[in-house]
Amino acid sequence: MQFGDFAGNEPIKRQLAAEIDAGHFPHALLLEGAAGTGRRTLARQIARAALCRSGEHPARPCGVCAACQKSAHPDLTELGGDGTALSVDTIRRLREDAFLLPNESAYRVVILAEAQTMTPQAQNALLKILEEPPAYLLFILTCDKRTSLLETIRSRCVCLALSPVEWDLAAPVLAARLPRVPEEELRRAHSLFGGCIGQVIDGVSDGTFRQVLELVPRMAAAVVAPSELELLRLTGPLEKEKQLTAGVLAGLMLVFRDALIHKYGGATALSTAPEAARQLAARLTGARLTALMEQVEQLQNALTRNMNNTLLLTRLCACLRQGAGM
Ligand SMILES: [Zn+2]
Repeated sequence: MQFGDFAGNEPIKRQLAAEIDAGHFPHALLLEGAAGTGRRTLARQIARAALCRSGEHPARPCGVCAACQKSAHPDLTELGGDGTALSVDTIRRLREDAFLLPNESAYRVVILAEAQTMTPQAQNALLKILEEPPAYLLFILTCDKRTSLLETIRSRCVCLALSPVEWDLAAPVLAARLPRVPEEELRRAHSLFGGCIGQVIDGVSDGTFRQVLELVPRMAAAVVAPSELELLRLTGPLEKEKQLTAGVLAGLMLVFRDALIHKYGGATALSTAPEAARQLAARLTGARLTALMEQVEQLQNALTRNMNNTLLLTRLCACLRQGAGM
């Protein structure tokens, strides 16, 4: 199997290539990973490999056959990942169609993106197909954490966990996708978004990264300001922007971590605000900086649990001021 420009995750690629090159497409595959780790990209690449007409499995997807040339393949169904939940009705319709033969290919492939948005009822409807799937039907599910799916679903899937990609492997992909952005900026964005290539591409393209660069040093300074009003004021732009909130939390985490490293004599410039990190190192004890990192981690967890953003921002101000002992 060919993986195109899908970077990193070598153990997963080896496992998939071994199975697919031997002609064994898993009937149900679950790709687990944080946003931006390439779950959907990989799901589509595997679907293309299954639908490809090349007789040579290691060459799939070949990119030149009639199936590979199609922009929309009649044997590929892609559902979910559009911000709405996968409903039980959607899954029931899939079940009604499960025994329809493929139109052109040897397989029919169904991608269910953000499978964790399925209610237990929808998951149980899916389970009925996964229990006795026709030989030509392949499911590729993506999710953030496999534990957000029923055990009965997980046990019927080959589960693969995608990891963030280190800079050396991510750099060529990012340079190709964002050719006008200087390498240093890409490197900082890669660090901020924790190696999740999709998040780097989105964050740099839609301006979130720039806003984070602007906000984080000011927020880091406001954490130890005499009054909490400045910090409250700076959270204003985050009110309606969950992605920006996630970016700012990641940025603050890097600043607090760098401040801690700086405090103990280490040199680092990973954070998006080295000067703010130096100032915090001078102002706060190591225990306070560690407490701040713990507070940010809790806020990040609350964000992934879909806590109401306004509530989260109020907590952000209180928690950070408290962590800093203000
Ligand atoms: Zn092909």
